[in-house]
Amino acid sequence: MECDILVIGCGPAGLSAAGYAARAGYNVLAIDSLAPGGQLLYIDEIENYPGYESTSGYSLAENFEKQAVSFGVRIEFWGAEKIEKNGDRFKVMTTGEEVVCKAVIFSSGASHRHLGCPGEEEYQGRGVSYCATCDGPFFRGRKIAVVGGGDTALTDALYLSKIGSEVHIIHRRNEFRGQKVLQNRVRAKDNIFLHLSLNVERINGDDKGVKSVTLTDGSELDVDAVFIFVGIIPNSSVLEGFADLDHGFVVTDSHMRTSVPGLFAAGDVRTTPFRQVVTAAGDGAAAAHAADEYIQNL
Ligand code: NAP
Repeated sequence: MECDILVIGCGPAGLSAAGYAARAGYNVLAIDSLAPGGQLLYIDEIENYPGYESTSGYSLAENFEKQAVSFGVRIEFWGAEKIEKNGDRFKVMTTGEEVVCKAVIFSSGASHRHLGCPGEEEYQGRGVSYCATCDGPFFRGRKIAVVGGGDTALTDALYLSKIGSEVHIIHRRNEFRGQKVLQNRVRAKDNIFLHLSLNVERINGDDKGVKSVTLTDGSELDVDAVFIFVGIIPNSSVLEGFADLDHGFVVTDSHMRTSVPGLFAAGDVRTTPFRQVVTAAGDGAAAAHAADEYIQNL
């Protein structure tokens, strides 16, 4: 099929880009192999998206999608498999149809990094999780470990402290990377315990699931669940050898232009110092504007 602009990835960056481009009069197709919303779907509560005192990630995702569709965006559950450029047209092979378009906005986001310790794969789904909102409620009144020291670990530890009896944050340094305001809240909670300058050596369990974690100092901590929040890996493999990447993140300028004219990148997948819902949405708007300029000059 043909369209003016293909948006790959329907998180906040992609849905914002698609909405802006459709509103500017372009025929826009937005694709995602999963439900629209991206990482928003895993966030329990968001209190720093402008205009909302507090909202759930799911409801914000729904609003993003509804608004994009109301501007005329067509959304398909397809994954991108290969991108080529022939003259001034892109050809994108997807798990659905082949798409020919004038510009591509790449906003495929990022996935959870794994710890890589023994027991992590084995107990995934039986106590090991990467999503507090999805799996936290299974551990009501139980002891929970959270691994990591960034915004996700701190935000989700606070969420899990409302569900579990105890939350043990295990972080490899003695300083957190996450925002100060979150650090202060974590330190003020009397059922959150900090294990700093330590990492998880091994996750232990039996056929019922996780029982404990062994830490790098040899100590063992009894927990029923381990939530791992040790960062993100960009979903950019489809661009390898096609556009410039830096440690897997798509290199862009401040207009979201990549090394390939007509290919723009937005949100967590691009090189950016600050990854928030609001910056992803802003990236999307900027990418749509740059794509508009590019197409007008074809
Ligand atoms: P992140 O900021 O990259 O933090 C990852 C954490 O995991 C760091 O503390 C890191 O330790 C630790 N880590 C990395 N590899 C590890 C390993 N192999 N073993 C043990 N620990 C390891 O990732 P994130 O927290 O998922 O956040 C991703 C992005 O989303 C960030 O830009 C963040 O600001 C943003 N975000 C924002 C919000 C919000 O504003 N509410 C919420 C969630 C996420 P070191 O500190 O030692 O490197």
